[in-house]
Amino acid sequence: MNPVWIADCLRMEDVDVVEYPGWRTRGHGDFADVRGVMVHHTGSDRATAASIAEGRPDLRGPLSQLHVARDGTVTVVAAGVAWHAGAGRYPWLPTNGGNRHTIGIECANSGTSPTAPHRENWPDAQYSALIRCCAAIHRRLGLPVTRTIGHREYAGRSQGKWDPGAIDMNVLREDVGRRLGDVSPAVLLERGSTGQLVAELQRRLKHAYRSYAGDLAIDGVFGPATEAAVREFQRRTPGLDVDGVVGPLTAAALRLTVVPSAQASPQ
Ligand SMILES: [Zn+2]
Repeated sequence: MNPVWIADCLRMEDVDVVEYPGWRTRGHGDFADVRGVMVHHTGSDRATAASIAEGRPDLRGPLSQLHVARDGTVTVVAAGVAWHAGAGRYPWLPTNGGNRHTIGIECANSGTSPTAPHRENWPDAQYSALIRCCAAIHRRLGLPVTRTIGHREYAGRSQGKWDPGAIDMNVLREDVGRRLGDVSPAVLLERGSTGQLVAELQRRLKHAYRSYAGDLAIDGVFGPATEAAVREFQRRTPGLDVDGVVGPLTAAALRLTVVPSAQASPQ
């Protein structure tokens, strides 16, 4: 499950990649699964990739999977789990489980201040590389842009984190979406999604897979029962990850016709 594909996948997105020695086997154990991306600032404009790989006396590295320098160079530091997220919560993550489910991107940046306007002290090269890293991972995994979050969105309450500073995460997500453009349809239905397409998903599961989805309500709301039925479908279908999320592969296997306007964002 570790993203050993990440260096190639970044190069495909025109990222200037440096592979830090030993990155493929570096980590604090293995990923459970990769559900998204978490963006950070290091706290210093001069923080090096080596400092992220090796860590510090009180916290052993790796401290994230990727390091983005101010000139846009991206160093792949680790493919295994890194200590970047810590305690926190977010709807599609288990509580305090960010490290085992998200790829961390540490950007060499002071963060300026918690109230600084978007992109103050973020050079074009660095910001653009960050957008391309996020897009590359989303493209590879078929994840929607909502799966890129900032450390403060996960750990603001629990740890008082405010990184990435001077980054408006909604603007960043829009920029990632623009980068993904028309290449990826970003097909995704998951817990919290609502609308026509969810109803169509429920109809297909209910009628085609009566043995385990027979009593599913067709209400257009992707709740626990719908997720359970999706998981069962994935378990019975070779080649699909059992994640309870309807991405491009699962949608295709269900022959679910995607109407972009019917897509809904997760909570
Ligand atoms: Zn952070």
